[in-house]
Amino acid sequence: MNDQNGTIAKVKQMVRDANNIVVLLGIGTVIESGGENIWSSRECYRLEEKYHKSPDEMMSVEYYSARRDKFFEFYKNEIIANILEPASLYDELVILQKQGKVSKFITQNYYNLECKAGLEDVIELHGNIKHNICPHCGKKFDVEYMQKAKGVPTCDECKCAIRPGVLLFGEKILNGPMTEAVNACEKADLILVLGTNMYDNMVRFCTGDYKGERPPLVLITKEEHYTDRYADLVIHDKVCDVLPQIISKDLPEKKRIKEEDVIVKPVKQNKAAKK
Ligand SMILES: [Zn+2]
Repeated sequence: MNDQNGTIAKVKQMVRDANNIVVLLGIGTVIESGGENIWSSRECYRLEEKYHKSPDEMMSVEYYSARRDKFFEFYKNEIIANILEPASLYDELVILQKQGKVSKFITQNYYNLECKAGLEDVIELHGNIKHNICPHCGKKFDVEYMQKAKGVPTCDECKCAIRPGVLLFGEKILNGPMTEAVNACEKADLILVLGTNMYDNMVRFCTGDYKGERPPLVLITKEEHYTDRYADLVIHDKVCDVLPQIISKDLPEKKRIKEEDVIVKPVKQNKAAKK
């Protein structure tokens, strides 16, 4: 794209001027960290060949309840076998955070990359592989305990099967984090969507499902999608390659003021959404 350089300069200025950025992290940020998208058609095919079931079925609450041994076979082999390390894009986000510009990071990813990288104020809509809990006594277990367990991981106190810390298909996202995410996006002066597309449930829900007013939204993603036109600006490239170009390094570090102290400015009208 010829215009890419112009767009990058424009986005860099927007980021520089913004004081209340919300960053939405999609599956692309996991892939850039060396992970797999188990819902990509290639991976779906591989997993169906191997387990004779789709990843949706295996990651469901029904499967967890009815075939717990099989559920954990899948979960341990495909979700937590390799613990991922955050890609360089996360270091860039830490810089943005230190400049006091980011009010919330919102993610559906549950690989603990955000926390490991040192991001604060993260809303994990689909939980975290790190937060496993015994439903009976409430004892918490780390991901290493889950990895090492033979068969179904059970609580060492009461022998109950441990509930993994991630949201399963058929379960609803808790209202609290969902509302918090929507509110954060409404108050933002800039939304950065990284490594996903506008069709993503998280993006649609947080930004008003294409309609209505919302703050300016910049989409940075490698894959093109027919819904890209709903973003105000789009950069098609790896997030790791784009972020160093749009984050100014000469800005001073600044502590972020607590949310209750922030004077809420009226949300800017989104021209694209106006009728
Ligand atoms: Zn227990």
